[in-house]
This record gives sequence, C-alpha cells and structure tokens, in this order.
Amino acid sequence: MKLAVRNGTLVTPGGRYEADVECEDGRIAALVAWGRSSGGGEEVDATGLLVFPGFIDPHVHSRDPGLTEKEDFAHSTRAAAASGVTAILEMPNVVPPVSDAATFRERANQHARVAFVDFGLWGISIGAENLNELPGLVEEGAVGVKLFWGYALKRQTKQLVYNLADEPPENLILPPGNGDVLKVFETMARMGGLLAAHCEDRDILEAAQHALGRKIEDYEDLLASRPDTAEAATIAVGAEFSQTTGCRFHVVHISSARGLEVVRAAQDRGIPITAETCPQYLTLTDESYETVGSLMKVYPPVRRAADRGALWKGVRDGVITSIGSDHAPHTAEEKRLGLATQPAGFVGVETLAPLMVNEALAGRLSPERLSWVLSEGTARLYGLYPQKGAILPGADADLTLVDPEGESVISNERLHSKHPVSPWNGVRLRGALKAAVLRGRVVMRDGEPVGDPEGQLVRPVRSQEVSFSRG
Ligand SMILES: [Zn+2]
Repeated sequence: MKLAVRNGTLVTPGGRYEADVECEDGRIAALVAWGRSSGGGEEVDATGLLVFPGFIDPHVHSRDPGLTEKEDFAHSTRAAAASGVTAILEMPNVVPPVSDAATFRERANQHARVAFVDFGLWGISIGAENLNELPGLVEEGAVGVKLFWGYALKRQTKQLVYNLADEPPENLILPPGNGDVLKVFETMARMGGLLAAHCEDRDILEAAQHALGRKIEDYEDLLASRPDTAEAATIAVGAEFSQTTGCRFHVVHISSARGLEVVRAAQDRGIPITAETCPQYLTLTDESYETVGSLMKVYPPVRRAADRGALWKGVRDGVITSIGSDHAPHTAEEKRLGLATQPAGFVGVETLAPLMVNEALAGRLSPERLSWVLSEGTARLYGLYPQKGAILPGADADLTLVDPEGESVISNERLHSKHPVSPWNGVRLRGALKAAVLRGRVVMRDGEPVGDPEGQLVRPVRSQEVSFSRG
C-alpha cells in the first residue's frame, strides 16, 4: 500500500523542509524533493500546507469501560482523528482501572476493536494496594504509571473519590501517605518507567476549603479553595523523591507559575522531572469565567494571567515538554450544574490541535516548537520516538496536515464526542486541520474522520535514551 504526500512543507522541531513524503506499508519510505515522488499509489496534495509528524494527545480520559454515559473509546478516538491527532495515550482511571498486567491486556484488546487512531495505555498506581503490579504494567507496555496523588478510591470499584466526605470511611482506600509514595518511586525507578502524578496536596486543599468556610459560590472561591501552593508543594516532594530514587517524574496538567518554578529549579539541578500543560491553562484565565461560566471548572483550576504567562514561557523555553488535552468528558446534564456541584473537566481531545495551531499562527510559539510539544517531545517523553513523532524513513507514516491560511470555528455541533460541550464553543481560530494520515492511510479530511477504525496499541521502547531539549 503506497501513499505520497506531495508539495507540503514539513515542520519538525529542527526546522522546516520542502519535501514529498513517500509512504509504503504503513511506514515512511522516503523523503524526496518536490515533484520527485515516484507515484503509483494514492496521492495527497499538500500544496500550501504545513505537514507535521502526527499529533499525539498524551492525556485522554475516554471513560471506557464503566463510565460510558460520559464518553467511550470509539467517540474519543473519532474526535481525535477529526482534529488530526493520530495517537492518544489513554488514562487508567476507569472502572475497573488499569492496575495490573491482566487488565492492561484486556483493555488493549477491547480498545483495539474500536480505535480510530493509535493508542498507548497508562497504568495506575494506588499506593501500597498495587505496588507489586507496577513492574508487570511496565513490562506489558504501559506508557507510564499515573499516581492520583492525594486521592482516595472506592474500595469496590477503585473509582477516584473527589470528596472524602461523600463516602463512609469503610468504603474507601485512603490516599497513600508519602512513605508509600516513595516506594512507588523506588519501584518505578528500578523498572526504568515513567511515573506521572496529579499534583495537588490534599491537606492543603482541605485546609483552604475549611478557611473559605462556605460552599463555592464564584470563581474566586474556587481559586481560593485550590491554591497554587498545593500544586507547587506536591511537585517539590515529587522532585525530592525523583532525586532520591532516580525515578523519571512527570507532572501532568501543570497550571501555575509557582508549580512551574519548582519544575524549572529541579531540572536545573539535573533531576529527571518533566511537565505537561494543557490548552485551558494557555488560553483561559480567571477572567474567562465571565463568558465561559461554570463549564470551565477543571482540576487543577485555570488560574491568573500571570500563571498563563509563566506557562507560555515554559512552553517556549522547553521546561514544558508536552501539551495534552486532559480530555475529561461528563454528560451535558452534569456540565449544566452550577460551579460548586458540577464535576471538574471537559472535552478537549478534538480542540487540542486547533487551539494550539491557532496559538502558533498568532506567533505565541513557533511551528517548530508546536511540532515538539504536540509530537516529537511527547513521543520522546513516552519512549515512542521514532516510531511516532518523526518524519523520517522507517517511522510510522503518521502525518497531520495544516492549512495556515485557513480558518476554523470551534462548534459544539461539529465535535465528535458523546457530549460535545466545549468551553471554546464559538471561538474563531486561525488555521485549519485539513487531513491526517495514520500509518499511511488517510483517516481525516477537512475535519471529518474517514475509513474504518484501525487504531493499534503502541508500546514504549524501554531501552531508549530519553533526552529533552531546553534552550
Ligand atoms: Zn487527567
């Protein structure tokens, strides 16, 4: 099976090149001068388009199985394809969660039947409860292990509990203390695996909620109840444990200037710590609440303009390696609830690429940097490079084609999730996602998924040296 993408401008973190991309049997076969591709197969005309290595969303909660009233894997991967995301990394906190190798295998098979794009799977750490399962998860091919630091779980279903007071204590697995968390770091260090964490210190959150002394009424209350120091303090403990054990530690969805400062300082000391942020922290602030409303509730919360500015600096100078959506759908009904009661999180897998392309075309990051944070940097971080994240002979032929002169509008009516309720509904953007190629097959044209679900599981290459660009 042959496909040639002709007359496009390839965008890699190292620079832009005018070349045709020849794909054969799912891989990139050759890069040749414009007009020199041999033909004999399907052709995609990329005249005037930017050709990126296929975008990767490393932070997707498809809610499948167990919470499929909110979303499922078929919907989330179609939504991914529709916006040129050719691989997603699926978070483990479903019901039951991916807490051991057997569940990992079962989940991989189940998802492969409906996946529209390629996918990796996260494993979950629930402290001492599954410490002995972590090596099996890494060996099976988990892209990382995620610790929901400070969260309790329901004993029966191992579902995350957002409010301890909602559940009788006998039904709970209490959040692991730092002694157990340190053991998780030690175990992951021994396996050479990546440990990621949701970083907000539970005690600090509880004290802040107590100090507020009432239910959350407005956005200032929400911010007061989840202060940035809760994020920074947990990252600081993680950095310390990472230094002690040598475990690679990754901070997902970083939201604050203070948190980022801790990451930067730890990186400067040579600690193997990395960070991800999300479009919500780069495009919204507390002031957006006036127009977006409760729908923008997410944990950690969207904070101040100064936080947004610091995160942008981190994206540009490389302290932040990767941008993910934290796609966390709820039902439309749930998202209509008020600020205090509605669950945190919203759909994002389909808006990640359009929002970030818009930011690049508006000059807030270079197209080369965009290629890093949405593709190569993410692929390297999770050990998927150069199978993913590269436009090089031998790499998977995954490509995302962007029209820099085009325009798009985010519209709930056109999103592909089960409950398409986006905080960016109605936002006008520069650039248009024109087409996507997954292992040499066109899977999207003009924002619509095409073809059959043929996504496959991807596994990290464990022996890989991981290096990060800062500079
Ligand atoms: Zn998440």
